[in-house]
Amino acid sequence: MSTTAIVDQEKTGLGNYFIANYPPFAYWKKDFLPAAQAALDTPPVAGVPLGLYLHIPFCRKRCKFCYFRVYTDKNAKDIEVYLDALVKEVELLARKPVVGGRPLHYVYFGGGTPSYLSASQLRSLMTRLREIMPWQTASEVTFECEPGTLQQHKLETLREMGVTRLSLGVENFKPEILQYNGRAHLEDEIYRAFGWARDLGFPQINLDLIAGMVGEDWDNWKQCITKTIAMAPDCVTIYQMELPYNTVFSKALRDEESGKVSLEQAPTESASPHASQIADWPTKREWVQYAFDEFVKAGYSVSSATTVVKNPEKTRFVYREALWTGADMFGTGVASFGHVGGVHIQNVDTWEQYIEMLDRDELPLGRAFPTTPRDRLIREIVLLLKTGHLDAGYFRKKYGVEISTEFRTAFEKLEREGWLTVAGDRIDTTRAGLMQIDRHLQVMFDPQYRGTRYA
Ligand code: SF4
Repeated sequence: MSTTAIVDQEKTGLGNYFIANYPPFAYWKKDFLPAAQAALDTPPVAGVPLGLYLHIPFCRKRCKFCYFRVYTDKNAKDIEVYLDALVKEVELLARKPVVGGRPLHYVYFGGGTPSYLSASQLRSLMTRLREIMPWQTASEVTFECEPGTLQQHKLETLREMGVTRLSLGVENFKPEILQYNGRAHLEDEIYRAFGWARDLGFPQINLDLIAGMVGEDWDNWKQCITKTIAMAPDCVTIYQMELPYNTVFSKALRDEESGKVSLEQAPTESASPHASQIADWPTKREWVQYAFDEFVKAGYSVSSATTVVKNPEKTRFVYREALWTGADMFGTGVASFGHVGGVHIQNVDTWEQYIEMLDRDELPLGRAFPTTPRDRLIREIVLLLKTGHLDAGYFRKKYGVEISTEFRTAFEKLEREGWLTVAGDRIDTTRAGLMQIDRHLQVMFDPQYRGTRYA
């Protein structure tokens, strides 16, 4: 590979690097929906837990790096229509044979911004949902928040409604960086929301940070880590900034590269740093490495490629553990992803279709992918490698497969390159391997799925 190619590869270019599932989304098709329907109509496999994901697709404004299905222009009436549809969807799913009397093991309110909803909207929504699928005995109920949308009484409502894990989207502390990147919240709102949440005794509070937001530099990143450690959250998740297609930043970058807009002509916030100035991958990895080192010095443990936790015994992330080891999950809401009875499912991804289908009492299924046992095995290997450890004994018991033999070539390659070590049943990523694990996971894929873009 030429030096130029290496440099280009290490630039933060357009596209997703993060591997969220397997096989890649590009292979999920509408034609596979009968398999999704059949999975929903089949009783569950004994011992497989059931979770519920609820997508709340509203935000105060669109962050410039965001590629999720979110709406910033919906009024109170629209929101009411959406929440009614969401409750209807859960009602329809709750009647499906695949539930098989299972209580919910975990619940996740994601977005979008679930905390965009008012306290009364949340109380009404959660009361209705809990009547259909109770979560009082669930091991974890996660709720994502944007700090600027929280008030004390809203957090009180969430606590009363059984939320156990609050995830605050901090991303950065510096006002200018928050502003360049289109975040809606202010630095003071972070401390205020965190203080209320602590006072209310939420069992687990996670803070999200992003390494490599536009305008980031070493000094500020160090300050972000110092400030985060001073707050002493139970868990911290650090993402590395990507430039997926269909974001404000990626559009600006494309225009700039095609010569449509020069830096001098950029119409908005022309004094701001530009998407083309996003730190390269080696720098972002150094920032995450620095953060992990500082957190470890402060008593935290690294629990995955993106997370550190204060107390690994107590602070678990049930949603991730369950999903990555093949649990069922109803993914509800517009464009949501789920997994039921071995079939990946995604809902339709437009507001209109979602509302109309539920109006007709129809599940809003958009596309699916029925996995084979080998797909599921590879999916678990790929996702669990993100925790830094694989136990060959676990796979032997669950799949009857000797992974060290079956995937020898891939493991040997990764070991040779210094990304992991294999010792008996234990396969561990090195710290350097963990920092960039998503770059290396495709080597585990079956050949037909390699090189596919995760967009
Ligand atoms: S708050 Fe989250 S979901 Fe909403 S626009 Fe920003 S990144 Fe996207």
